[in-house]
Amino acid sequence: MNSPYDVLIIGGGPAGASTATILAEHGHRVLVIEREKFPRYHVGESLIPFTFGPLERLGMIPKMKKSHFMKKYSVSFVQPDGRRSQPFYFYTRYDKETVAQTWQVLRSEFDEMLLNNARERGAEVREETTVTRLLKNDSGHVIGVEVKNKDGSLESLYSSMVIDASGKEAFASNREGWRVGDPYLNKIAVWTYYKGSKRAKDLDEGATTIAFIPERGWFWHIPQHNDMVSVGVVAEGKYLTRDGVRDPKAMFEREISENKWIAEHLSAGECTGEYWLTSEYSRHSRYCASPGLLLVGDAFAFLDPVFSSGVMLALKSGVLAADAVHEALKANDLSPERFSGYSDQIREGVENMRKLVYAFYDPNFSFKDVVMKYPEAGAEITDCLSGDLNKDYTTLWNRIREFADLPDELPYGVP
Ligand code: FAD
Repeated sequence: MNSPYDVLIIGGGPAGASTATILAEHGHRVLVIEREKFPRYHVGESLIPFTFGPLERLGMIPKMKKSHFMKKYSVSFVQPDGRRSQPFYFYTRYDKETVAQTWQVLRSEFDEMLLNNARERGAEVREETTVTRLLKNDSGHVIGVEVKNKDGSLESLYSSMVIDASGKEAFASNREGWRVGDPYLNKIAVWTYYKGSKRAKDLDEGATTIAFIPERGWFWHIPQHNDMVSVGVVAEGKYLTRDGVRDPKAMFEREISENKWIAEHLSAGECTGEYWLTSEYSRHSRYCASPGLLLVGDAFAFLDPVFSSGVMLALKSGVLAADAVHEALKANDLSPERFSGYSDQIREGVENMRKLVYAFYDPNFSFKDVVMKYPEAGAEITDCLSGDLNKDYTTLWNRIREFADLPDELPYGVP
């Protein structure tokens, strides 16, 4: 079929924008179809050090360095009684000037920067346009998408390849029946923003703080520029909604009073508006590709955000997928098997991080216990938390298994 596009991309978030940037750089004709008008709100503001690699490949580092985004060097953990751990600096393991420093971003601005970067490389972007259907030929191969334009008209668009980067909408995986949930990580999150709340100084000003709710969940406290803080609570739905509380503000305020550090830090500031709630938690797609279709970012796998891995994985999957699609287009072979290398890398990354997330939620587990018994494990935990996820961590998992139950790998494959 004659088409002006080699590749159509559903969604212009970090995964879609990074796929588009690299494909356009390779010289392919790319269209990103985005439902919203950017800048649009999105949660997920804390980056991890290994976001540096994909950002560098995208040519984003000079823009990030020029931006007003808060620099992040560390993470701290806070006990319910208010005791805060020493900041955990990534530069104890990595080059301070590059990988070890990362950012706390405002996603509306960050995502728009990424999408504009894709435009600068030659990708076309159509905003306020929603993909409504995958178009398939008689053999079931995806050959394009149907979109609903801003004026309500429906239009069919064709391409050699469709990339699903639709984020939590998980467009293809929901429609194809590939979605697999993770009941153990079945949580909800409620969050809001404060201005003027108390924060650390100097190197620790941009530290992410994770505050425990014993055996229940945790708070995030993410300092941003302009004196704003993103703060949220994550726990099981039945815990946060206990005694019939359904209003997100009431849920949030009740939990604040349970954590001394969070209460004290927020008391100096003022909530600036809306309370957000999501029950959209960990899940992945059993398959990442079918003929003519490839999944990237959250549309492929979404993991509990306790260790802030989502944006790094979205950008990395976009870059890797774009290189794989480029090679496949060059070879004129778009069979799903061609993408198993891509899928294996992302799956390995998600599964490694998922083990750490499971350990985190185990009420009897503490990283400190592991490091006390195996001091060398500390460096590997740092690697994992920094986002260096494509490594063999068998020894680390065997050590952690002495303290916590870890999951079996979830099913993934090529249909
Ligand atoms: P998205 O960023 O969701 O982008 C998908 C895009 O597709 C959207 O712009 C959407 O409008 C568009 N779209 C969807 N459907 C269609 C359609 N049918 N047609 C056209 N367009 C469509 N990650 C971190 O790295 N750090 C954090 O601190 C962090 N905290 C989080 C806290 C919470 C409570 C949650 C829920 C997530 C958090 N995440 C965090 C995860 C992070 O938000 C995601 O992993 C990341 O946004 C994934 O990027 P993406 O491009 O795959 O999807």
